Amino acid sequence: MGGLACALDLAAQGAPVVTLEAAAAPGGKMHETRIGDAAIDSGPTVLTMRWVFDALFADAGATLDAHVRLTPLAILARHAWRAGEQLDLHADVRRSEDAIGAFAGAAAARGFRGFCAEARRVHDVLEGAFLTAPKPNPVTLAGRIGLHRMHDLFAIRPFETLWGALGRHFEDVRLRQLFGRYATYCGASPLQAPATLMLIADVEQRGVWAVDGGMQRLAEAMAARVVALGGDIRCGAEVAEIEIAGGAATAVRLRSGERIAARAVVCNADPNALACGGFGRAASRAIRATPMQARSLSAFTLAMTARRADFPLTRHTVFFSRDYPREFADIAAGRAPSEPTVYVCAQDRGDDAAAPPSERLFFIVNAPPSGDRGALTDAEASECESAIKTKLEACGVHLDWGGAEMRRTTPAMFHRRFAHTGGALYGRAPHGWAGTFLRPGTRTAIANLYLAGGATHPGAGVPMAALSGRLAAAAALRDLASTRRSSAAATPGGMSTRRAMTDASA
Ligand SMILES: Cc1cc2nc3c(=O)[nH]c(=O)nc-3n(C[C@H](O)[C@H](O)[C@H](O)COP(=O)(O)OP(=O)(O)OC[C@H]3O[C@@H](n4cnc5c(N)ncnc54)[C@H](O)[C@@H]3O)c2cc1C
Repeated sequence: MGGLACALDLAAQGAPVVTLEAAAAPGGKMHETRIGDAAIDSGPTVLTMRWVFDALFADAGATLDAHVRLTPLAILARHAWRAGEQLDLHADVRRSEDAIGAFAGAAAARGFRGFCAEARRVHDVLEGAFLTAPKPNPVTLAGRIGLHRMHDLFAIRPFETLWGALGRHFEDVRLRQLFGRYATYCGASPLQAPATLMLIADVEQRGVWAVDGGMQRLAEAMAARVVALGGDIRCGAEVAEIEIAGGAATAVRLRSGERIAARAVVCNADPNALACGGFGRAASRAIRATPMQARSLSAFTLAMTARRADFPLTRHTVFFSRDYPREFADIAAGRAPSEPTVYVCAQDRGDDAAAPPSERLFFIVNAPPSGDRGALTDAEASECESAIKTKLEACGVHLDWGGAEMRRTTPAMFHRRFAHTGGALYGRAPHGWAGTFLRPGTRTAIANLYLAGGATHPGAGVPMAALSGRLAAAAALRDLASTRRSSAAATPGGMSTRRAMTDASA
């Protein structure tokens, strides 16, 4: 997503851009699993912040609506704890408040109102100062927010945990669990993530969309637009090395041996792959490696087509474990949770909950990012699968597990797809007040070598990764323009020499 957004901006600015993708199709974590004729979204499924894509397409001379059909969801998600105990969050915040009141009482509804106001404020403070701006440090962030707005600076609550902050709003632990789950969208534990991440609740309230035909259509539409603007997208093209000369990135070399000269290189792989030598020793100096204990969450996923589900699944349904702290303690200890919280994406359903007799389902549970140390073994993956079934059965979801064809993805499989990550899906976990600032930014220690993607600033998630790509394109264009100016001055007739710029986003 970061690479595609970056390529789109560069192509829109007339830069000759080549996007090199190791996999057979663009999209990265935005991924589709085929079971028979069914194409099942088996990566991101919740699309928020559509304004990011509206702006991206508009700046590339197109409209998002002309390329992909998005349907806003009236039910953001359904949440269940056991049979008969369920709660919907709605796009209409008043309906959510009523639902919470009916579920947990008037005090909980009041708590929700206060929580929404706080989450909105955090989001408003950080949107321009953090999300769409280059990576700040604590001092520059304070400067952007404005020292005269110190109250806003403390309102983002970097020093409190999300779990703790939720305790101020909700006595009912189920509601803490529900809103604490937003931390996992960035691969963090709600018990360690800063309360700042409550802004994700506000992001969802501003809209969740379903992409017609699956999330990968969005990646395809972006790739098609890059090509329409004269860019090149090459799939099955694995970059083996980023060449460095004179302290700057000058070319990439593919596994096939092909060399592509470049005046700017944008790396969309997990930055840890760069730091650990996945693109050669010289390029590894670009950034520091992520310590193993700082890795974000991985996942255990199942994609399947299944019959019968007595529970009224909606597009996004979450079945919560009874003990959230224990679940994250299991993961921190390197184990799959014994009683997991299970997210289910029922991809044939919209708000009306109608589904065909055989429907496409995708399940996600959080898992430890130790895929490079063998997690999960086959036996553990089978245990995890049984735990998912037990949880769902307890909530009244009855599926023909025996007759269904299923595809698993374990942390080890994610690690193979995203090298040097251990299966961590979101880079460094944003734990503690400093976690967010430790994420790498766009620029690296090597000139002309930039980073984009969900493991870089401003953070994880499809729209955020796209924003990171836009920041990388802006930085590269700025640097190229300044080099061009200086080379024109230094080289007689310099600007008339053939422009040999290739921007590779690997
Ligand atoms: C199971 C799952 C569920 C998720 N759910 C959501 C959700 O509901 N909503 C949401 O917003 N986000 C969700 N996310 C997170 C979101 O998908 C990611 O944050 C985002 O897509 C990451 O994009 P990225 O730019 O980091 O690139 P990635 O998706 O990581 O892609 C990087 C690309 O680089 C390629 N690459 C790596 N090395 C090389 C090389 N050497 N040569 C060539 N190519 C290379 C890879 O093949 C890959 O295609 C989910 C993620 C997962 C895995």
